[in-house]
Amino acid sequence: MLFESPSVERLVEAFRRLPGVGKRSAERHALHLLSAPPEEAQFLSEAIRDARERITTCSTCCNLTETDPCPICAHPNRDKSTICVVERPSGVMAIEKGASYCGLYHVLNGALNPLEGVGPDEITVGRLMARLKQGEVNEVIVATNATAEGEATAMYLSRQIGELGITVSRIAHGVPMGSGLEFADNVTLSHALQGRTRLG
Ligand SMILES: [Zn+2]
Repeated sequence: MLFESPSVERLVEAFRRLPGVGKRSAERHALHLLSAPPEEAQFLSEAIRDARERITTCSTCCNLTETDPCPICAHPNRDKSTICVVERPSGVMAIEKGASYCGLYHVLNGALNPLEGVGPDEITVGRLMARLKQGEVNEVIVATNATAEGEATAMYLSRQIGELGITVSRIAHGVPMGSGLEFADNVTLSHALQGRTRLG
């Protein structure tokens, strides 16, 4: 505890809720903002509020975006016959940064996890299937994470999508087991996409 102050305590708690921020970093961030010029804290709070107000989800691919459809879905040169399925917007960012992928995406917003009550209805599978039924897509690349949930989701999707006669492939080797796409380096990610294997 830095001071006997409920407001400082609340600020520290706000930082602690961020991914990867422990107690000590949370305290350091809070102290920094309290001792820096007031504009600094204002800049941060306005940036958060502004981004939250402007960012929405793309009604096509479910990625985070400021415009709907998002710039990737709306881009005239993207290959509309291929969809890469990822768990989170961070997966889209990782692939866009590194791999030379020019198809479209679909963000599931999670992975199947029956033990925690996450079934197909809790993620955006329904919207993916609706997209596929429009008939423009001939390959779906499943780039869910290399975790038990990610694998289960890949198997589920390959069954569902295989029934539509669309090729389903799974990104290959190299993405570290148990981790998300954002932790793979660019070369690994490119190889993983190129070396995908067919599921159905
Ligand atoms: Zn989109």
